[in-house]
Amino acid sequence: MTRSAFPVVLDLAGRRVVAVGGGPVSARRVRALVAESADVTVIAPYVCEDLHDLVRSGDITWLARDYGGARDLDGAWLVHTATGDPITDRAVREDADAARTWCVDATDADATRASVPARTDVTTPDGRVTISTYAAGDPRRASGVTDAVAIAVATGRIDLRRRRARSGIGWVALVGGGPGADGLLTARGHELVRSADVVVVDRLAPRTVVDRLPDSVEVIDVGKTPGHHPIPQERINEILVEQALLGRAVVRLKGGDPYVLGRGGEERLACEAAGVPVEVVPGVTSAVSVPAAAGIPVTHRGLARAFSVVTGHDEIPSLPTGSDHTLVLLMGVGRLHETAALLVANGRERHTPVAVVERGWTPTQRTTVGTLDTIAVLAAARGVESPAVIVVGDVVRLAHEWEEVA
Ligand code: SAH
Repeated sequence: MTRSAFPVVLDLAGRRVVAVGGGPVSARRVRALVAESADVTVIAPYVCEDLHDLVRSGDITWLARDYGGARDLDGAWLVHTATGDPITDRAVREDADAARTWCVDATDADATRASVPARTDVTTPDGRVTISTYAAGDPRRASGVTDAVAIAVATGRIDLRRRRARSGIGWVALVGGGPGADGLLTARGHELVRSADVVVVDRLAPRTVVDRLPDSVEVIDVGKTPGHHPIPQERINEILVEQALLGRAVVRLKGGDPYVLGRGGEERLACEAAGVPVEVVPGVTSAVSVPAAAGIPVTHRGLARAFSVVTGHDEIPSLPTGSDHTLVLLMGVGRLHETAALLVANGRERHTPVAVVERGWTPTQRTTVGTLDTIAVLAAARGVESPAVIVVGDVVRLAHEWEEVA
């Protein structure tokens, strides 16, 4: 028979809740109640470590004794019982019923007339969404369903956009999209992308994520291809601010990590200067992950203890020259020839291994390996093009492609 079940959301802030029982089940619920600012009193002769912590921090009141009857429930808006003793739990439940106070019996799913559903929360700049599941008499079944929904949220399968107009200003999130593969965008990144009205994308942002967006999400492409007129950074900053000031939720989806040679700092400062709320979500940087895609760890015991990430030539004279210091070059394909020569001129061994990894983490990824002496010619012969990460140092010997060539 189907149980009667009517979901309700309670705002328990400042309201008295009595929890009978001091074990881990009680502790888990009490912690959740405290997180919602309830005024919790725990009644139990002994309490577990988690509850002790809450007592010490002054978040709950603890009456260190057995349940003392109906008077213990005076003034409570909600009662929770999980003593591990069915007779006591039942007494609490019956006393609460007599007082017409809702009581959750956490240890008897069949007897209780109030239940706490399984739950997962996602908080976006527009506020919290709480997803709860209840399955009569079967809490595990409910958590299974909730977990599945949580995964769908974390992988960007659920639209979290606010449907009611925001009053006033919107928000901006600078989201690091990782090197291009869907799975390398963080869960937080997915949540925010699916909360956006507008997504401002780079050429190197993960395209599959963008392709999956509903048509009603506006996509603004500010991607730069080498040789074409890029949209100036100042204009990108303006677009982010303008859109947010229109009251829209804006995600700036960038390749890699926003703060690694990505001008994310400037975008954040522009938003802050305009009074636009801004969140920055780190991403998996191509500087580390693209070498990894080719089998190259940027540090490796016995081979390299440190690495530098650079773009231009200016930094080269000041870098360590040992082949045990890994050099990672971004945006460097066009000047590979000059760079290799400059590294040798600045003291690097001409036989230092070099790898050029194009389009890392995409189906057309390709690795070209050589040495400082040979790499420019090899790369030219294979028509190597941007985007690619260049790695210089002994760690390149660990590349999947290394043996074939060396
Ligand atoms: N903020 C980004 C870097 C931006 S600079 C990050 O943290 O990854 C752009 C450069 O990153 C490209 O010129 C290229 O050198 C590198 N890059 C980014 N994604 C790449 C990919 N999937 N494969 C190869 N190189 C990539």
